[in-house]
Amino acid sequence: MLALQGAFAEHVRVFSRLGAQAIEVRLPEHLTGLDSLVVPGGESTTISQLMAEYGLLSPLQRMAGEGLPIWGTCAGLIMLAKRGADLAFPTLAVMDITVRRNAFGRQVESFEAELDVPAIGPAPFPAVFIRAPVIAETGPRVQVLACHNGGAVVAAQERNLLATAFHPELTDDLRFHRHFLEIAAAAKAAVGSHT
Ligand code: GLN
Repeated sequence: MLALQGAFAEHVRVFSRLGAQAIEVRLPEHLTGLDSLVVPGGESTTISQLMAEYGLLSPLQRMAGEGLPIWGTCAGLIMLAKRGADLAFPTLAVMDITVRRNAFGRQVESFEAELDVPAIGPAPFPAVFIRAPVIAETGPRVQVLACHNGGAVVAAQERNLLATAFHPELTDDLRFHRHFLEIAAAAKAAVGSHT
């Protein structure tokens, strides 16, 4: 759990409800032995600045390249996107998507929407959007998981990388957290099978 800034405590709480122990990552030494990472929502400007300052950027880019499962929610999605972040500081830029920040307009601070997400089951997912970005473009290996009102892409996956424009940690629906734990477990099994 990247715990530089933003909604990380809420994620930690959900993972513990699912029986998974999340540790808080602030410095490069916290990366040792990490088997997956959540980059939470918050302020992308602050998160990118702190990531660069604390020397987390290049080790995490290397680990993502080696298959570390990473889930970015909201500002975390902005950190993952290869294109469109448009910030003063560099981002992880590991996922083949183009992000558009504050895509629902600055006036629309937050709203809830029911999303159809077949990958996690038939029931609609109650998604909380807070000054949310959208995914404007997806590369060929990226799987679209959900669209808002049949339009803008708001959840996607590229192998071990998961991106959601909304905040599943602020709801009682645990299916996205469970989905990410499954990605992490599969990645671990794949590494195990090589050794
Ligand atoms: N609009 C914020 C940004 O660009 C993201 C908001 C959020 O993470 N809830 O950083």
